[in-house]
Amino acid sequence: MGDYILTQLSNHTYYFAARSNIGVYEENGEVLLIDSGSDKEAGRQVMKFVKQQKWEIKLIINTHSNADHIGGNAFIQKRTGCRIAATELETPFINHPFFEPSFLNGGYPHKRLQNKFLLAAPSQVTDIIPDSGPILDTPLEALSLPGHFLQMIGVQTPDSVLFTADALIPEEIVNKYHIFYLYDIRSHLATLSMLKERENIQFVPSHGVPVRSITEMADVNIAKIMEIAEQIRDICRVPKTAEELLELLCSRYGLELNGNQYVLLLSTIRAYLAYMLEEKIVEIIYNKGRMEWKTR
Ligand SMILES: [Zn+2]
Repeated sequence: MGDYILTQLSNHTYYFAARSNIGVYEENGEVLLIDSGSDKEAGRQVMKFVKQQKWEIKLIINTHSNADHIGGNAFIQKRTGCRIAATELETPFINHPFFEPSFLNGGYPHKRLQNKFLLAAPSQVTDIIPDSGPILDTPLEALSLPGHFLQMIGVQTPDSVLFTADALIPEEIVNKYHIFYLYDIRSHLATLSMLKERENIQFVPSHGVPVRSITEMADVNIAKIMEIAEQIRDICRVPKTAEELLELLCSRYGLELNGNQYVLLLSTIRAYLAYMLEEKIVEIIYNKGRMEWKTR
């Protein structure tokens, strides 16, 4: 892969387009990063660029703790001693990244889950920040975006750029993968409705290109979530375990899963089921050694 290229979005705001985009806010040579990329190499690339500019990284703000957003933290913090800010619930996963594959697997993660996509190198959060309002002594503001993960935030700059982390997935990815990782469906739907009301800013999703309006993208995301819930309702007319349900959804959508996608999506299916149980759409049947979900 070639060197990272910095794209300017506004007066002081830029981003590195990468597998996970990295936001940059620069003033007087001082740099605040919004996430640090998907791995050590991302950290190395950012450091190289910043050095060439004779800029200095002061702070990394992590939108959430998923490995593909904190992957460059350790490399950058080791070399610069920069501060790292994150919300209270995301912090333990950044300080102790082993929690991520453990959490997704629902128990001690087998060896094949201990890879860079689910397990980042540990770094140290120096500042636990609220999930909304001004971020420390910076001109940036946090915007609460719960749903994709425990306490995810967006970051808004004073020059009108909003980094939306993983709250919004671009349409082509939605229609390619159909089911994408979510932790809390109800919160996520509320987050999407809230984001739709925002105007006069540029939106930068972590996995896509910046856009001026997100109404359409938000609607595509909401519609797909509703569609998956409808599929689950349909499949569970005959009681199914969560694993059987995932298998049937994959066959309906023609999806092949690798080991990481398997735990991510099984965890997501459980989130859908929890939401649909609360909505009284499905019920639970404990049947000998099986836990089955049945449409009511
Ligand atoms: Zn992500």
